Amino acid sequence: MNCQFCQKRDYLLENEFAYAKFSTDPTTMGHILVVPKRHVSDYNYLTDAEKQAMHELVDMGKDVLAGIYSPSDYNLSMSIAENPKGEHLYFNLIPKYIEAQNTETEIA
Ligand SMILES: [Zn+2]
Repeated sequence: MNCQFCQKRDYLLENEFAYAKFSTDPTTMGHILVVPKRHVSDYNYLTDAEKQAMHELVDMGKDVLAGIYSPSDYNLSMSIAENPKGEHLYFNLIPKYIEAQNTETEIA
């Protein structure tokens, strides 16, 4: 069996050490995964160059999301994909949207 994150498929952005793609199970519209190309199970195992490459794709992914969806904010988190070949670290870049209903400001 192969690790699904070691197979770069349907990716959105790429550089030397990492790639980014839209989540197939998005938390919110535009949820992006940033994945190191090397099969690494923990952030601390990344080289400085790999960390820099991942953060570059966070920057670029954020620009893409701003252009398409105009979110109000973003959450950035780390996760680990478990699969038969082991564990593969990735980042979640999750756009946040202002909910339409709370438009009135209450003053006590
Ligand atoms: Zn992998």
